[in-house]
Amino acid sequence: MEDCIFCKIVNKDIPSEIIHETDHFLAFLNINPNNYGHTLIIPKKHADNIYELDEKSSSTLGYEISFISKIIKSAMNADGINVIMNNDKAAGQAVFHQHTHIIPRYLNDGFEHWEPKKYEYEGQIKEIAEKIRTSMLS
Ligand SMILES: [Zn+2]
Repeated sequence: MEDCIFCKIVNKDIPSEIIHETDHFLAFLNINPNNYGHTLIIPKKHADNIYELDEKSSSTLGYEISFISKIIKSAMNADGINVIMNNDKAAGQAVFHQHTHIIPRYLNDGFEHWEPKKYEYEGQIKEIAEKIRTSMLS
């Protein structure tokens, strides 16, 4: 897409610190890292979000995430890795070219996990599971 900053990175119109490139993906360092080594994995073929990834990209994304996570953990001597993907504005997506964050984590690096939500009544978890299973059939 013409005005997409990540497409420009894929096309090398904008320079980036690329750490890995395959036929389908590019992995490069985030210029606004949460921790040093924070990497973004993006499909070379534009897709706004996870829902629009083509079959080849979606089926190989898991392998790429696993591969890059292992490399970053080792290279950055990280204690852990967060894999984060925001889809849609409501989920915090800011750049609308699908991307996966690989963030090295360290014990006591100050980031907090979100508080879990509690179910409001008995049986609610079963209702939600049934709603999701039913939507898969339609
Ligand atoms: Zn794009």
